[in-house]
Amino acid sequence: MSIKEYFVSIFKGFYSLIKGMEVTGKELVTPKVTEQYPENRAELKIPERFRATLEFIYDDKGYHKCIACGSCERNCPNQTISITKRMVDLPDGKKKMKLDKYMYDLGSCTFCGLCVQVCPTNAIKFSNDFEQAVFTREKLNKQLNYLPEKDDAPAPAPAAKPAAPAAKPAAPSPEKPADAPAKAAADETKQEPKENKE
Ligand code: SF4
Ligand code: SF4
Repeated sequence: MSIKEYFVSIFKGFYSLIKGMEVTGKELVTPKVTEQYPENRAELKIPERFRATLEFIYDDKGYHKCIACGSCERNCPNQTISITKRMVDLPDGKKKMKLDKYMYDLGSCTFCGLCVQVCPTNAIKFSNDFEQAVFTREKLNKQLNYLPEKDDAPAPAPAAKPAAPAAKPAAPSPEKPADAPAKAAADETKQEPKENKE
């Protein structure tokens, strides 16, 4: 190795060292952010798309849109979702498959999001509620349809019927029975003078 090659190799070594330390140097001068959790729970900002746990989307009346098609269950790569269904009779005599239980095991979910993507009715979504710690694994197995089904919900009470109108007083008969004897007496009185004349 010549003297020139020796110094070139030393220069290349320094250049490589500085290049490698570039990221470290940037982070050294970047302002540090330390989350004081759980003290900062009130102002903590979790990204909306963060996948913490699967949940049903309920509308403002408490109904979900799951049609128990089982697509999410079939596409889940590790059997995290388990659905049980039941047949119900419709008023028109037909039968319909309905969701009975939608079980989701948070402990085995890999948060791949396939279940949400394949759902044809957009019935499920990922919540960003990251505080899911529990003391036993059994508690990670959740039933997502915890509200009553649409047809299972108690029917609204029928509106109270308006009170029946009071019975009308009977129309007075042209000749009341109570007045009949009085009328007969009056007729007799009218006939008496006739008999006296005879
Ligand atoms: S996110 Fe992936 S692993 Fe989790 S339930 Fe959905 S499909 Fe299964
Ligand atoms: S959540 Fe969606 S994909 Fe899964 S059973 Fe219900 S409707 Fe089907």
